[in-house]
Amino acid sequence: MKNESGFPNWFHLKCQECFECPARSGRHSVIVGRGDVPADILIVGDAPGTSDDLVGIPFVGSAGHLLDSMIKAIPDFPSVYLTTGILCHPRDERGEAREPEKLEFERCARWVQRIFRGVNPCAVVFLGKLSAKHCRTFLPVNVKIFSMMHPAYVVRNGGMSSPLFQHNVRVLEDVVSYVQQTKNTRSESDAS
Ligand code: SF4
Repeated sequence: MKNESGFPNWFHLKCQECFECPARSGRHSVIVGRGDVPADILIVGDAPGTSDDLVGIPFVGSAGHLLDSMIKAIPDFPSVYLTTGILCHPRDERGEAREPEKLEFERCARWVQRIFRGVNPCAVVFLGKLSAKHCRTFLPVNVKIFSMMHPAYVVRNGGMSSPLFQHNVRVLEDVVSYVQQTKNTRSESDAS
């Protein structure tokens, strides 16, 4: 599979060879992420979706398109990386999408921690309660954590015309504002 993750090929290949948890069954690809490496902002969902699994890139379905629209709604959005708390699309015994389990987050932490370190963000936005619960422990104390409604929920409740869309844009505006202030403070202290 072509590596469009922004991470080196060796890391991408190591992830593709992982069979460490039940989410491996039925997957088409192990999905590292997409975007800038390093990046000011890291956006983290729970797990890749069905469309993501087929393409090998996260957030490519309707929820991903809506998330991209939220990002584009903000001028001069900083560098951003998108990933998930586990890297394989979890399915149940009938092949249907299911929620990732605690064990899967624990096993996948070996990869997700490296992704977090490589991206080295100033702020993290969790889209899912599960990833927020299991992955926030990887983050250094100086990384600011935000949460946002999952774009899939916004899709199901009106999409771009919904007030939920504007709510998420306002959360992202707060994130961008925090990142800009933090970078300004750091560059002032570097100059002094
Ligand atoms: S979800 Fe993570 S730990 Fe589980 S098989 Fe996929 S890459 Fe490996």
